[in-house]
Amino acid sequence: MKSVFDGRYDRPPVVRDGAAARADIAAIGGRYLDAMKAGKGRPASMGYFDDIMTSARRRTELEEYKRGGGKIVGLFCNFVPEELVYAAGALPIRLCAEAYPAVPVAEEVLARDVCPLVKSAFGMRMMKLGYFDLCDLAIMPTSCDAKKKCSKFMSAYMPTWTLDLPQAKDYDKNLSQWTREIGGIKDRLEEFCGRKITAAGLEGAIRMVHRRTEAFRKMYELRKADPYAITGRDAFLAIQASFHDDIDRWTGKMNELVASASLMPSANPVVPPPPKILLTGAPEANSYSSSAPVSCPPKILLTGAPVIWPNWKLLHTIEEAGAVVAADTLCSGTQRLFDPIEVDEWTQHGMIRALAVKHLFPSLCPCFIENAEHIDRILELAADFRIDGVVYHTLRLCQLFDMEYNHVAAVLREKGIPLINITTDLGLEDSEQIKTRIEAFLEMIGNRA
Ligand code: SF4
Ligand code: SF4
Repeated sequence: MKSVFDGRYDRPPVVRDGAAARADIAAIGGRYLDAMKAGKGRPASMGYFDDIMTSARRRTELEEYKRGGGKIVGLFCNFVPEELVYAAGALPIRLCAEAYPAVPVAEEVLARDVCPLVKSAFGMRMMKLGYFDLCDLAIMPTSCDAKKKCSKFMSAYMPTWTLDLPQAKDYDKNLSQWTREIGGIKDRLEEFCGRKITAAGLEGAIRMVHRRTEAFRKMYELRKADPYAITGRDAFLAIQASFHDDIDRWTGKMNELVASASLMPSANPVVPPPPKILLTGAPEANSYSSSAPVSCPPKILLTGAPVIWPNWKLLHTIEEAGAVVAADTLCSGTQRLFDPIEVDEWTQHGMIRALAVKHLFPSLCPCFIENAEHIDRILELAADFRIDGVVYHTLRLCQLFDMEYNHVAAVLREKGIPLINITTDLGLEDSEQIKTRIEAFLEMIGNRA
C-alpha cells in the first residue's frame, strides 16, 4: 500500500528539549493524584494504577522490551484494532494526550488555532515525552481535519500511516470499504513487523482483548452503585492505564480493583460530604426521572470531548464540588473498553470483519456525519445510572463537539435532564471560573427537589 505522503517538500523534524515540560506535567498530575488519594475509603488497589500512570515503571519495562527487539505501534483514537497489533507480535500504545505544557511547543509547527488535544500529542512528540519516542510506527485515523493533517507532520518523526475512516456509520454502505481498510492495516502490520498474522494468533489476541473488556465491564457495572463504589477520577485513571500497560496484567489488576471497590458502597463515601441534595426526579411532563436516594452525591454523566491524564481539571472540579462522575461517553473513558467483539466465524475473514464492526459502528466520535447514537447513549446511561445531570465537555477549537452540543442540548431539555456545557482547553487559567459554574449547576440540581 502506497504512503499518502509524497515527501517532496519534507522538512527535518523540529525537536525541543522536554525537561521543563516533563516536570510541569508531573507536577500537574501529582496535584490531582494527591487530591484523589486524600479521598476517604479509596480502594487500596488503585495504587497499582497510580503507579502505572505516574512512575517510570512501565517505561522501563518497554525500554527493556525494545532492547529485546520488540516493536511498539502508537495508535490514536479507538479505531485501529489493537488485536491486529498483538497478533503481529508488537505492542500497541494509545498516544492521544492532553498535557498542557506540550501545547505551546506544538504551535511552532502546527497552527495556533488547532485542537489542543492534537497540539498536545504533537508537542509531546517534539519533546520526546510520554511514550512517543518508543514507538516504531504511528497509525492515525482521518477522524477530523486536525488529526488528518497532523499525520503529515507526525511522519517527519516516525513512520506514520493513516487509516481512512468512512464519513458515516452506514452499515450497508460502509462495511465493505471499512473491512478492506482494516484488512489493509493487517497486511501492512505483517510486513512492518515481519510476522504473518495467523488465524490462531488473531483468535488468541481477540480473546485476550475480550478478557480485558469483561474485566472493564465489571467496573462499569460497579459505577452504578449508590452512593458509589469508585469515583469517576479513579475510573478514568484505571481506564487510561490501559493505554500503555501490559494487557493481561491490567486485566488482572482491574479484576482486583472491582473486587475491593465493591466492598466500598454506602459504607465509605469517598467524596467529601456533598451539599444536601434532595432528588424527586424530573417534572411529571418529562420522560426522565432520577431515583437516586436522598443524600447521595449527585451523579453526573460526562459527555463530549475526551479528557486525558493529566488534564483532570473537569473531573477534579466536579468531584471536589461534591458530585461523582458515575458514567461517561468519552472515547478516553468508557468508549475505549466497553464494546465487546462478536465473531460469527473464527476464520481470518470472519475475524477481520468482526474487528471492523467493533471498531467503527459503536463509536460515538463526532467526526461522523450522523451521530444520533451519541444522544441514544446519553439517554440510556442517564436512565441506567440514575444520572442527575449531564456535563458536556467541549474542547476549544474543536468544531465537531461544539456543533453537536446544541442538538444534544435540545433533546436533553425536552427530557428534563439538567445539562451544562463547559468549553475549555487544557490550561488551568479558567479553573476558578469552571468551579463556580459547576457549583452553581449542582446547586440548581439540588433546587429541583
Ligand atoms: S473524539 Fe474522536 S477524533 Fe477525538 S480523540 Fe476521540 S475518537 Fe479520536
Ligand atoms: S477533540 Fe475534536 S478536533 Fe480534537 S481530535 Fe477530537 S474531534 Fe478532532
